[in-house]
Amino acid sequence: MTQTDALMQAVRYLGPRQKFQMRAVAIPSPGPGQVRVKVAACGVCRTELHLRDGLLDLGKRDFTVGHEIAGVVDALGAGVDARRLGQRVVVYYYQGCGDCRYCLRGDEQLCPQPAAQPGFTSDGGYAEYLVVRARNCVPLPDSLSLTQAAPLGCAGSTAVHAGKLAAIQPGEWVVIHGFGGVGLALMQYAAAAGARTIAVGLGAEKMAMATRLGASAVIDAMEEPDVASKVNAITGEGADVVFELVGTTQSMTRSVASLRRRGRLILVGYTADSFQVHPVELIVRELQVMGSVGSTLQDLYDVVDLVAIGAISPFIDRTLPLAAFETALAAVEAQTPMGRIVLTT
Ligand SMILES: [Zn+2]
Ligand SMILES: [Zn+2]
Repeated sequence: MTQTDALMQAVRYLGPRQKFQMRAVAIPSPGPGQVRVKVAACGVCRTELHLRDGLLDLGKRDFTVGHEIAGVVDALGAGVDARRLGQRVVVYYYQGCGDCRYCLRGDEQLCPQPAAQPGFTSDGGYAEYLVVRARNCVPLPDSLSLTQAAPLGCAGSTAVHAGKLAAIQPGEWVVIHGFGGVGLALMQYAAAAGARTIAVGLGAEKMAMATRLGASAVIDAMEEPDVASKVNAITGEGADVVFELVGTTQSMTRSVASLRRRGRLILVGYTADSFQVHPVELIVRELQVMGSVGSTLQDLYDVVDLVAIGAISPFIDRTLPLAAFETALAAVEAQTPMGRIVLTT
């Protein structure tokens, strides 16, 4: 990657347990097979807090954070199709090695030796520009604004990936434990797949939103301490699928207790807490537990389509200028946003 002389503002990760720093860095130029994206919007994901707090450390230092990126292609590297120039795109944030058994099947999120991972190990979207492999840029329909599109890059695509792993069947009861950006998208995905959905979250306002978006039932965990009993009362025996998006020990324990026999638990969100379960709980009810990380490039194409046809509504809480990134992070930490906060440049 070559650099031009011009500078831009970017929010940098310097190391675990350090505040992010806004710095002036060189505007990058695209290398062969790459494009430069002029960033218009970048969603704020809980993972930024995990990086800052040292919960997630992939070993790299001094890079620009942000991985829910939408913008306009404004420069092309060698060998890139000229029609890419000027395209409105959302960015897929994994770039696998291309040759391993996972990459060959499209599971770049599992590649053991990724070439790049914008916002995690290489420069991401809390900046005015970024450079990325052209293939990672998913074109957007005119009906979708760049602000609406940005959170599809992680929250939306993560929801679709987890939904596919769960193999939701029509008529199944699906619990979404945690109602942030991923939860909002997952609930709509599950409903579109024909499931009956129960949203579990904090606060009347969020639960009213879940009802508005078509939840079959809602449980406000602030008001209802025994979430599992409530789920069992609503469903008769327990849920077929529970998506765990919170990741506290309390929440994960409730999730296991909310499942019916042969139920599937999909772990997506995490905190510093451990998942504790006695094996007999899994054995005698033949429960399945699986993890779901990020998404494939195809999942991102799919969520853009699902939003374009109205099966999933965009889920933006508000926009803030890039310079207000600390305000955004504080709100995410307090779990107050109704959907995603998006930083605009
Ligand atoms: Zn994310
Ligand atoms: Zn690979």
